[in-house]
Amino acid sequence: AEARFIANNPLSKAQHDLAIGTLPGGNTRTLLHTSPFPLAMKQGKDSYVWDVDNHKYVDLVGELTAGLLGHSHPAIHATIQHTLTTTGLSLGATTAHEHAYAALLCARFHLDRVRMANSGTEANLHALAGARHHTGRRKVVVFSGGYHGAVLGFGEGTPGVNAVDREDFVVVPRYNDLGLARRVIGGVEGLAAVLVEAVQGAGGCIVGGREFLVGVREAAREKGAVFILDEVMTSRLAPGGLAGEMGLEPDMVTLGKYLGGGLAFGAFGGREEVMRVYDPRVPGSLPHSGTFNNNTLVMSVGKTALGEVYTPEVCVEFNEKADGFRERLKGVAKGSRLSFTGKGSLIGFHFTEDGTENITCGEDVKGKTRQDLKDLFWFEMLEAGFWVTRRGLIALILGTPEEDLDQFVEAVKAFLGRHKAI
Ligand code: PMP
Repeated sequence: AEARFIANNPLSKAQHDLAIGTLPGGNTRTLLHTSPFPLAMKQGKDSYVWDVDNHKYVDLVGELTAGLLGHSHPAIHATIQHTLTTTGLSLGATTAHEHAYAALLCARFHLDRVRMANSGTEANLHALAGARHHTGRRKVVVFSGGYHGAVLGFGEGTPGVNAVDREDFVVVPRYNDLGLARRVIGGVEGLAAVLVEAVQGAGGCIVGGREFLVGVREAAREKGAVFILDEVMTSRLAPGGLAGEMGLEPDMVTLGKYLGGGLAFGAFGGREEVMRVYDPRVPGSLPHSGTFNNNTLVMSVGKTALGEVYTPEVCVEFNEKADGFRERLKGVAKGSRLSFTGKGSLIGFHFTEDGTENITCGEDVKGKTRQDLKDLFWFEMLEAGFWVTRRGLIALILGTPEEDLDQFVEAVKAFLGRHKAI
């Protein structure tokens, strides 16, 4: 399969050979590196992408959830055009676009106050800074397999606590293990915050149990620490995010991805009592800067994305449909080494020695992952016309036609039929 990949993609290879001269490894997002070389895409339209060798793919990468609305949603394009001509680019000032989007974010995600940033990574870093300022403490509890941004990764496949001080982070070695979480949280001196995802996205689309998440919140509260729910990926799964759906009542929430309508975005918000640390009218408050925090294009397009396109009704219907899709995939993969996890439009796929479907934390599959099969799957799905991540995440796009999803189920069935030993 790899030999065919090389033969079929000469222009991607040529581009890679050039790129390694200027970018370490030839790209600027490590996640997108694939051996022997990554495919270079040249265009996206609706729910499809085309590579430089002119192959067309159904886009199941969905820009790692940021591409929820697809490549050419007319309302998104129209808003960008409109803002560009009527307001212009960043104005070095606060604008009505920013105020309107803040109001919408607060209403949808049950936040008293919100602040904007440029990425999910930034949102989490600012939330942690706020929690530290609020509590006057430093330590943060996170979970193994958790991913909170480029410098805040805590899993085997997602390490990267490199630009922040490792000593400040205490990692609970198993997600979804409340007893363990309680013991770890209880034992930390000077705890400022507990930071957790309601579904570990990059960690393999592993769904957190409600009892676990509520228990973690309570353990954080008992310590006087701030409970921060990272909804950078999960805010797409329910109209008020999973905090709303599961009734988690976090002190702070971090957001990002599709909420920038496809442009760079991050936000963090929560209870007034905590967010007050960012109020410049309060003596001793914490400065929060960022040249592009409130840039006009993102503020306006984000508001269109959330307010006009991804309405609560659309969100519910989309994720229900996605649940059905995952169930069909599970049915096809039954009895094989392939299994599917996730919730709604966030889908994870795993190849393990025993094909376990019961994955509650990264440690459940530790040492059992069959990377060779995952790689083979990736090569063969590309040949069948499906763009999926190499590592095992499928993030559905709102406008993907039902027939494309049907065909993907068929392609998975055919893959398992060709490789009966899997
Ligand atoms: N938190 C979570 C849960 C994420 O999935 C991501 C991105 N994959 C981030 C934070 C970081 O967001 P960004 O890539 O926009 O910095």
